[in-house]
Amino acid sequence: MSKFWSSMVKRTEPYVPGEQIEQKDIVKLNTNENPYPPSPKVIAAIQQEMGRNLQLYPSPTATELRETIGLQYGLTAEEVFVGNGSDEVLAFSFMAFFEPGKPIRFPDVTYSFYPVYAKLFDIPYEEVPLNKDFTLPVDNYFQSEGGVILPNPNAPTSIYAELEHIEEIVKNNPDQVVIIDEAYIDFASKSATELIRKYDNVLVVQTTSKSRSLAGLRVGFAMGAPSLIAALIRIKDSFNSYTLDRLALVGAKAAFEDEDYFEKTTQKIIATREKMNETLQQLNFNVLPSQANFVFTSHQTVPAEFLYNELKKEGVLVRYFNKPGIDNYLRITVGTDEQVERLVEKLTDILNL
Ligand code: PMP
Repeated sequence: MSKFWSSMVKRTEPYVPGEQIEQKDIVKLNTNENPYPPSPKVIAAIQQEMGRNLQLYPSPTATELRETIGLQYGLTAEEVFVGNGSDEVLAFSFMAFFEPGKPIRFPDVTYSFYPVYAKLFDIPYEEVPLNKDFTLPVDNYFQSEGGVILPNPNAPTSIYAELEHIEEIVKNNPDQVVIIDEAYIDFASKSATELIRKYDNVLVVQTTSKSRSLAGLRVGFAMGAPSLIAALIRIKDSFNSYTLDRLALVGAKAAFEDEDYFEKTTQKIIATREKMNETLQQLNFNVLPSQANFVFTSHQTVPAEFLYNELKKEGVLVRYFNKPGIDNYLRITVGTDEQVERLVEKLTDILNL
């Protein structure tokens, strides 16, 4: 029956994304999207681009967008790579920097796409348990055989590792690539981009899906030494020279050019997160110290799976992971103040408070 399947297809266990529900009145707090729309300048740029040149291929090098992103961090276009969401950038990075036979390390628990890529590309891996308080046991990442990948802040725990710890990991893997997946960094403290000029083995991956409100446009990017970026471009060009379409190129560029809007929406989300954290604690939840646009939380007496199901019945969608070690936690995206009020109202009812 499956005689045409390749061994690669057989070893894949695809990533299962969070539920995407089209229902209009749902409070959707399950996949860490930004609750605010993109900057009006993004919409204007896309509309303008739609009126011209869609019959022509986009730029295969995406130089303008790479320059614009680089400007944010004092980097050149040669130090920036762009791809179709950071998931694709991460897939290319696994192909470019990790190899069969040399185990890589990533945390247990972490972003569940990493084992998917590792299996797909036949890369062995060691899952390094987090400390009891979900912080990173930094020393356990030193001298890896095949490289390191970790998100900072971590997902789904929301915990941020200080830059000096990240630097120690980079320093102690001099011959391997250390990938720091910073999908949520704009809601946290310092980015590891500061390390790029000091170390040629650190690759920082970010996305426009969270802090720039562009999950639907699919633009992710990586920053690192030119030799790392050249390797990614080589992999990309072996698949598709035109990774980003014209609308994504101009939309993402406009998002990076509207710093005021970015600052305003990001600060708003951080303020809502802090308020949400306090309110959940008043409802007897333990909440991990979040530096992301979501919180990771466990109720002191009521099981997480029950709360997830009851909230869903009430039209509030949060994320539940049926995974040992975190199966009593909920991951809840920080929404607008109104969405968070609705969440709290429903939780109060469910908990009979
Ligand atoms: N890394 C982490 C840690 C994430 O949580 C996500 C979002 N699911 C991604 C990468 C991928 O984001 P995107 O492909 O939308 O850029």
